Amino acid sequence: MYSSSHLKRSWVEIDLTQLEANYNAYSQALPSDSKIICVVKADAYGHGSVKVCQKLNKIGVDYFAVSNIEEAKELRKKNIKGDILILGYTPVEYASDLVEYDITQSILSEEYAEALMDVGFEGKCQFAVDTGMNRIGINADDIDSCEKIVRKFYSHFELNGIFTHLCVSDSNTEENVRFTKEQICKFGALTERLSDLSLKYCHFLNSAGGLFYANKKPIVRLGIALYGLKPDYSNCLPSGICPCMTWKSIVSMLKEVKPGEYIGYGRTFSATENMIIATVPTGYADGYRRELSNNGYVLVNGKKAPVVGRVCMDQIMVDVTNAGKICTGDEVILMGTDGVNSFNADEMAERIGTIGYEIVCGISKRVPRIYI
Ligand SMILES: *Cc1c(COP(=O)(O)O)cnc(C)c1O
Repeated sequence: MYSSSHLKRSWVEIDLTQLEANYNAYSQALPSDSKIICVVKADAYGHGSVKVCQKLNKIGVDYFAVSNIEEAKELRKKNIKGDILILGYTPVEYASDLVEYDITQSILSEEYAEALMDVGFEGKCQFAVDTGMNRIGINADDIDSCEKIVRKFYSHFELNGIFTHLCVSDSNTEENVRFTKEQICKFGALTERLSDLSLKYCHFLNSAGGLFYANKKPIVRLGIALYGLKPDYSNCLPSGICPCMTWKSIVSMLKEVKPGEYIGYGRTFSATENMIIATVPTGYADGYRRELSNNGYVLVNGKKAPVVGRVCMDQIMVDVTNAGKICTGDEVILMGTDGVNSFNADEMAERIGTIGYEIVCGISKRVPRIYI
């Protein structure tokens, strides 16, 4: 399965074949003339951006998006080919790195464009356009001003696109659908105004957007669905898309506890019967969320074993009373599927009121990533 030896305490297995399958399944759900920019920010949502991009380069992906200059440089230093777009802020002091590493920078505002110009930047860039999220971008509500700004900087920079971001494309309520359509409409109007510039990359679709709002010749900035997770719990992903990350640990100790005995910090769990408790050496310092205290479960021996007591920094305790014969050293699935039961990042997230994105990004550095 994998040859590298790693610390078998807490580790993540990433199935790059599944990643490829996700990419293919997603592209097949799009019109045939679509283009996909793979979003690999935050270390490819915790999956390891270098390994992920190497795999994607191999299957022909030639466009990536990251959040910052360090992420972009790391990819270039590992010889990742293709375009790299920085979706967020880069201090203008790094403008020369943008050019040196052949990276495309998003322009957040007119002021930011001025600042880049002041330091002599002439490289690749794209204007972010704000169509209603109020995060970054020039304000699409003032289309005349947008047009003026873009045209002004078009002659100074190697401007090759504009993009906007949809903030509720994962929701199908009537108001949210209307809002999204308005966002797309505003962006379309600006694109139209600038059509004589023949900007190569005009894009507005994220994972959810690509599924529900693909336009003609769509360009999708594909993030979460590439990793097999849902933008929102309510979404259905194209068939064949599955999480490509499994988080594993082992049983480090087993013990029997009697009725009335407590488990963990704060004595939040007390045994009501004779129980068998397994200790698992993964905790919140690994990114195993503390909200899973007395709330989550792990998969062991093909069974669900509930987390009992509070999640500690480096360990959790789970109830394996009904999990059959367990031995120390047995593998435990903290997140993923054993083929029968599943507890993936989306399910974990829903349980604690967050999103799968935050779960996978939050698995900390001390958890080795193993590629299978
Ligand atoms: C993160 C991000 C994406 C990817 O979104 P997903 O929901 O993960 O597909 C796309 N565009 C921008 C601007 C982003 O910041």
